[in-house]
Amino acid sequence: MRIGQGIDVHAFLEPGSANHIMLGGVEISHDRGVLAHSDGDVLIHALMDALLGALGLPDIGHQFPDSDPKFSGANSMSLLASVVALMDQAALRIENLDATVLLEAPKLVPYREAMIQSIAQALGCEQERVGLKATTTEKLGFIGRGEGISAQVVVLLTSDPK
Ligand code: MG
Repeated sequence: MRIGQGIDVHAFLEPGSANHIMLGGVEISHDRGVLAHSDGDVLIHALMDALLGALGLPDIGHQFPDSDPKFSGANSMSLLASVVALMDQAALRIENLDATVLLEAPKLVPYREAMIQSIAQALGCEQERVGLKATTTEKLGFIGRGEGISAQVVVLLTSDPK
């Protein structure tokens, strides 16, 4: 068994700056985009760092540097695919993962199932292995003031056959 955890934060842009954000590879309707070099999918970024941590590898900033124009506007799901390839190379697979998105708005409930489906598909695991929760921070701090969004993910990998 290998455990990993990942955290990511992105700032929201001003209201009217976009019509959606990306979370878990799913378009979530919102009038504010996020400030990011890539598509700013905090959930996938935290997941990739959790996977890399479990593999004992350097973080996503090392794998996909901000300074490299190749990753400008990058689709986080394709970056995740290359991290999943590293997991496959190590002969490890997902036992389970548990993710929490911290944000004041928008509400994620209508998108929860689509996000779980998207993540499970990307990881090549059953949907019941993917835990996904969201919470506000009760108006406290930068998340509570609606200035940004954050995600935290823990993963457990196993070398057991399916
Ligand atoms: Mg990020």
